[in-house]
Amino acid sequence: MSSIAQHLQQVQTRIQSACQAAGRDPASVRLLAVSKTFDASAVRQAHAAGQSAFGENYIQEGVDKILALQDLALEWHCIGPIQSNKTRLVAEHFDWVHSIDRIKTAERLSAQRPAGLPDLQVCIQVNLDGGSNKSGVAPDQTLALANAVAALPRLRLRGIMSIPEPGDEAATRWVHAQAHALWCSLQQAGLVMDTLSMGMTADLELAVAQGSTMVRVGTAIFGQR
Ligand SMILES: *Cc1c(COP(=O)(O)O)cnc(C)c1O
Repeated sequence: MSSIAQHLQQVQTRIQSACQAAGRDPASVRLLAVSKTFDASAVRQAHAAGQSAFGENYIQEGVDKILALQDLALEWHCIGPIQSNKTRLVAEHFDWVHSIDRIKTAERLSAQRPAGLPDLQVCIQVNLDGGSNKSGVAPDQTLALANAVAALPRLRLRGIMSIPEPGDEAATRWVHAQAHALWCSLQQAGLVMDTLSMGMTADLELAVAQGSTMVRVGTAIFGQR
């Protein structure tokens, strides 16, 4: 077994244990394998071990891998910041985007999504703990942005994404709880969503305990970057 396959198995075990501890169905948490900085052959190994959803931060790097791996049935998620001059690449090549934090990006993705492709699946990135320099929309502006995104053609709103600042366990747990509460309040406001994207290598157990439905794990699968 390749080390990537072994690591994937370890991460699945971590997710299962976290679900068990939280009284959750393990099928309610998806694993997104974050392959940024690793090459196409690493993605191939992960796919051979049963992984099909991959996350990329850097758009050109992601597109290069997507094109190199077109022979595999993979689902590609853009999880990094998107400058306006990169929206077309994202719209034409990715299946999901987790990092929408302004309407302009969403409008461009909507306009540029090719008609022959399925709707682009999108999450709003929320900034729950950072200053104004951090990516993500402020919590009190999330509902307005989510409603505007949900109204755009060729996009399908799936949920929200949160990236806590590195901190101690209590701080991380607090951010995850805030994200979950916001996600619930958006649903109560009438938005139909099924995805709460939170949790990485260091905090996936905490995220699952607070209701994450998709963990984005890089280091524990592919190694140190
Ligand atoms: C790099 C990255 C991850 C994966 O982080 P690890 O700590 O390596 O698991 C998850 N989400 C985002 C947005 C990232 O940029």
